[in-house]
Amino acid sequence: MSKLSKAWTQQVTPRPAIWADVPDEKWTDWRWQLSHRVSELEILETFINLTDEEIEGISAPNRFRLDITPYFASLIDPDDPMCPVRQQVIPKGRELKAFDSMMEDSLAEDRHSPVPGLVHRYPDRVLMLVTTQCASYCRYCTRSRIVGDAAATFSKAEFELQLDYLRRTPQVRDVLLSGGDPLTVSPRILDYLLGELRKIEHIEIIRIGSRVPVFLPQRVTDELCETLAKYHPLWLNIHVNHPKEITPELYQACDKLSRAGVPLGNQSVLLAGVNDSVHIQRELVHQLVQMRVRPYYLYQCDLVEGAGHFRTSVAKGIEIIEGLRGHTSGYAVPQYIIDAPGGGGKIPVAPQYLISQAPGKVVLRNYEGFITTYTEAGDYDPDAIKAWEAKVEKRPEPGQEGVLGLLEGEQLAIKPEAFDEIHKRNAMKHRLNQDESKWQPFHTGENSKNIPLTTAE
Ligand SMILES: *Cc1c(COP(=O)(O)O)cnc(C)c1O
Repeated sequence: MSKLSKAWTQQVTPRPAIWADVPDEKWTDWRWQLSHRVSELEILETFINLTDEEIEGISAPNRFRLDITPYFASLIDPDDPMCPVRQQVIPKGRELKAFDSMMEDSLAEDRHSPVPGLVHRYPDRVLMLVTTQCASYCRYCTRSRIVGDAAATFSKAEFELQLDYLRRTPQVRDVLLSGGDPLTVSPRILDYLLGELRKIEHIEIIRIGSRVPVFLPQRVTDELCETLAKYHPLWLNIHVNHPKEITPELYQACDKLSRAGVPLGNQSVLLAGVNDSVHIQRELVHQLVQMRVRPYYLYQCDLVEGAGHFRTSVAKGIEIIEGLRGHTSGYAVPQYIIDAPGGGGKIPVAPQYLISQAPGKVVLRNYEGFITTYTEAGDYDPDAIKAWEAKVEKRPEPGQEGVLGLLEGEQLAIKPEAFDEIHKRNAMKHRLNQDESKWQPFHTGENSKNIPLTTAE
């Protein structure tokens, strides 16, 4: 056991004075934590020295829901407005300010929903929103359009619609439960949903995205772990942005989940003034791997209402990856992702390591700036694998083969919407040039279906 993880097993987070008298059995009870969440100015100001801008944010009508578990609130530095925990959960006046390209649903999730709450963006996996509730609310929430509304929760009938869609959509092999926070739904409903998903044979893995271990580690009880373990293979991503959120309580929750066989990952969001630093990110990922949590994604902040002041440049994200890759364990390096505004999905962005290329040779640089060449095989035969490849089931991706489809010769080009219309320009055909077919490419490849150029969806 590392020195840090040893400390995490032996300590507890100290509590602010207002909760000093709460008996331990209440403090460690997740139901008590949920029902004693703080949201009112009068309470917040008893243990945080609020700035004028925070008071403005807290008092603003129509602001995104504010609610913080006493446990997470106890991590706030009462005297430092720049405290990374505080900035994530205490509203500021500036979150109400509109900015260029701001959207309500920046990932166009609603457009990709075949049934309420199900986002089917990728060929083989879906995002299943099962609740609008969270244990506490992140100010930069990408789903603030639906999250936090206590009156708008998912009904049993909606779950049935979601499950029905999944039952009749065999290309879905991976279901990602999200919300809201799936670990805030009642134990009975969680068990029901996981059980129904597991009954669907084509669903290979179930994933949960949850900030409950961070906001409400008390919820990670032995019973919860037993429930999750019934439905393996089940993976879980937590959401930690700063080393300050890594506490003995979080460590113990992660340890329990790992022991229940749940592989853990972390998704962070790059936030200006919170974690936009190579050195803070290094500290964060080092502490995460000590908890057996694998850094998975580092997200560029979405163009969503409320998040304007948290946005960094994209260059900062690239610099952070530059400062991690090679400098530390590969296990500790997340992928930096921009979730495409308009619904294009997650796009990885990374420093450039391939510097140049000629036939038979590539030039590469490493993290130190060392430049090398890799000589490619002169007699490489990419077809030698074909006999074995034929034995593997090819999974259909109707219309979503993408750039791989171009490489495999199934399509010649991907064209913007209305490309063909625009480029016809009412062209007059010469009488000697009437035969359209001679402009269509002829493919000889095994995969090719000689499909004419069509506009990609
Ligand atoms: C993030 C996301 C997924 C999962 O993406 P991975 O890259 O496989 O982790 C699936 N569906 C939607 C709509 C998503 O936003």
